[in-house]
Amino acid sequence: MTPATLEITILGSGTSTGVPVVGCDCAVCRSSDPRNQRTRCSALISDGRHNILIDTAPDLRQQALREDIRRIDAVLYTHSHADHLHGIDDLRGFNLRSKKSIPLYGSPQTLGRIRHNFGYIFAGLDTPGYVPRLSLHPVATNFSLFNLTIVPIPIDHGGMPTYGYRCGPFAYLTDCNGIPESSLALLDNLDLLVLDGLRFKPHNTHFNIPQAIQMAEIIGARQTLLTHLSHEVDHPRHAPQLPAEVDFAYDGQRLALPLHQMAEETLLRQLP
Ligand SMILES: [Zn+2]
Ligand SMILES: [Zn+2]
Ligand SMILES: [Zn+2]
Repeated sequence: MTPATLEITILGSGTSTGVPVVGCDCAVCRSSDPRNQRTRCSALISDGRHNILIDTAPDLRQQALREDIRRIDAVLYTHSHADHLHGIDDLRGFNLRSKKSIPLYGSPQTLGRIRHNFGYIFAGLDTPGYVPRLSLHPVATNFSLFNLTIVPIPIDHGGMPTYGYRCGPFAYLTDCNGIPESSLALLDNLDLLVLDGLRFKPHNTHFNIPQAIQMAEIIGARQTLLTHLSHEVDHPRHAPQLPAEVDFAYDGQRLALPLHQMAEETLLRQLP
């Protein structure tokens, strides 16, 4: 991969239960198609030298083994719900390899909740190797990470404010059922949008698939992948019914995006 490429890996495309759902005998949960087997929602951004993880799903260890991820240089948190957070302790394995602390980014509210829920991690205990080494970095606006510009995108998750993130030609907006106008303005000219599209039936904190398709049209990315999918979604059966620019994400999916535009953007920001 050349340095001018951003590689995106869908680590998990599933809703909070994962698919198959424990104890469920439906056709999707019993399907042998790997695109119907979904770990909890997460993604990896790589510029070839650094790996930026979005959320620490409870399946993080399994995802890292499956994709042979050997380093994590930073984590972007969308919000503090358990399906996006509870793999946090598995970051310890990456600390042990790198001997470095991992910076975590998110809204002040999200990071406050993480500090509260996982107090043992931040208590300064003298137990080297047994507790992940993590630092908290609240963000409210654009910031620079390994020469990439990261743009937090405020979105609405049924009344709970959460973040999506933009990095150059890529944006990741999971767990939302509303995107304010001010955030839509940050989503122009995307090559790839990953967007919440939970299921066909309506839901009070997630876009359902018809709403997600409508939002994908408004945002107008060259390609949109729906994620956070429930066991209502049968990939081989339902994907052909989607518009040409929209598809379902699946675990292990990899996409390479050119970085030219962002390099220019970053350069402009760095000018005095
Ligand atoms: Zn979720
Ligand atoms: Zn099922
Ligand atoms: Zn959520």
